[in-house]
Amino acid sequence: MISGYTALYGLVAHPAHHSLSPMIHNLGFKQHQIDARYLVFDSQAQPQNIATAIRTLGVAGVNLSMPYKQSLVPLMDELMPAAQLVGAINTVALQSGKLVGTNTDGDGFWRALQKRYPNLASQQIVMLGAGGAGLAIIEAAARYGVATIQVFKRQNPTYVAVEQRLVTIANHHSMSIVLHDYADEQALQHALITADCVINATNLGMVNTPGLPMAAPLIRQIAPTCLVTDLIYAPRQTAFLQLAAQSGHSTQNGLGMLIEQAALSFQFWTGRVLQTDPIYHALMKEF
Ligand code: NAP
Repeated sequence: MISGYTALYGLVAHPAHHSLSPMIHNLGFKQHQIDARYLVFDSQAQPQNIATAIRTLGVAGVNLSMPYKQSLVPLMDELMPAAQLVGAINTVALQSGKLVGTNTDGDGFWRALQKRYPNLASQQIVMLGAGGAGLAIIEAAARYGVATIQVFKRQNPTYVAVEQRLVTIANHHSMSIVLHDYADEQALQHALITADCVINATNLGMVNTPGLPMAAPLIRQIAPTCLVTDLIYAPRQTAFLQLAAQSGHSTQNGLGMLIEQAALSFQFWTGRVLQTDPIYHALMKEF
């Protein structure tokens, strides 16, 4: 029952109404008998107004997605170290009147991978795209035993800034991160031969952005034991994952990451561990 004491959490993004986060978090509150509700706020308000609203209305916590992951960073009173390195947040908690920002995307990705493939050797990674989610995954990689990441990103106005951020992350975690031009097919071909895991962190393959993140013949050149992953979960199997499965690769879509990053946000807000298996089954049923 909702009362005057019910805590409010939510997603602030645009677009937002398609989100599965309300289902995940409200199941979590039920799981732990926490007096709270999670709603969606489809908003295009100025970042400053979002921060003020959270603070003045006493919203206990929010998730952020497009277009707020980076723009709310300077408005936080405190940033967790991973969020500082990535330069983006997906979770905000209001703690004693202070806005505390963190980023659970990266750990969410690796936890989902390790859950399904506990014996995966993930030393050599190839990543396509390096936007907000890609950078979070790169930052978290060292905590999951990754030694080298070869990143492919378009040569555009954000290239130099991303390159500098990758240098900072590589130095901080003492790991090797090499940035290549997305158009350099020869470098990609070479990287694919020894990769343990290929990650599509571009938007290519989403319902409204169809396409492949690499040319179809290159998919057949991915090392046979290499796991092929996509951050996208709608559609459940992108054309990229479909072609990879057809050439004999194990594949993983972004649904596990979605659930695990939510579980980490839930824990950040409530201190409680979300049991993700029942959530996964509930989502599968809903789909
Ligand atoms: P983002 O910050 O906008 O980054 C998108 C990346 O894709 C950028 O690196 C961009 O390249 C690249 N890209 C876009 N179009 C491209 C094209 N035509 N050719 C080559 N590269 C292209 O987005 P994001 O937040 O990182 O999200 C990326 C993907 O992950 C989306 O599909 C999103 O839905 C998914 N995601 C999933 C989860 C989950 O829980 N499963 C969580 C977050 C995100 P440039 O850098 O060159 O612009």
